[in-house]
Amino acid sequence: MAWRTDSIRQIARERIDILLHLARQTFPRNPTLSKRYVELARLIGMKSGVRLPREAKAFICDNCGTVLVPGDNCRVRIRSETGTTVLITCLECGCKKRFPTVRERLSNRMNRLKIRSRVTEPTIWVGKEGVTQRLLEQVEKQLESRQLVKLKVQKSTATKSETINVAKEVSTATESTIVDVIGHTFTLYKKKSESKITLKQGST
Ligand SMILES: [Zn+2]
Repeated sequence: MAWRTDSIRQIARERIDILLHLARQTFPRNPTLSKRYVELARLIGMKSGVRLPREAKAFICDNCGTVLVPGDNCRVRIRSETGTTVLITCLECGCKKRFPTVRERLSNRMNRLKIRSRVTEPTIWVGKEGVTQRLLEQVEKQLESRQLVKLKVQKSTATKSETINVAKEVSTATESTIVDVIGHTFTLYKKKSESKITLKQGST
């Protein structure tokens, strides 16, 4: 059953992409038809439970349903008084929408973490016993003291997907985020919890 819903959603996603693409293309020649394409894309989205892609949604007017083409029927401005906000004004109906570029900031942070991860040496080894309680405690302790911890799966025959599975298991158990998985190593990150402020940590 699951695969059926999956494939239906996949088809829905493809159709939505095509319709939104058509909507953008036809807008200059035929705004009415363009609006119809948007309507259909929204309908398919609702029926299949697929959300319109965030980038596409940003360029559809919430008020009149027009596809917004920058420089044609909408104005895009960046405001940065309170964090960076993108402000899009529909020139058809004057409706304004704004949204923060949070995702961008998040991905910047992720990039910084990835760079840090490259120059970090593994400090914890996952032995052939796999993910044990002792290992998890070790990881938690190190995450607490330095937020970024690199682990290495010792089994030399471990495949990429085995390494990913171990990474997932450890990150779930320690409520941390996977920064990256490279070869047999993976790096986890956990934001410092504010409640436990620095009891001077002993080594290891
Ligand atoms: Zn509008």
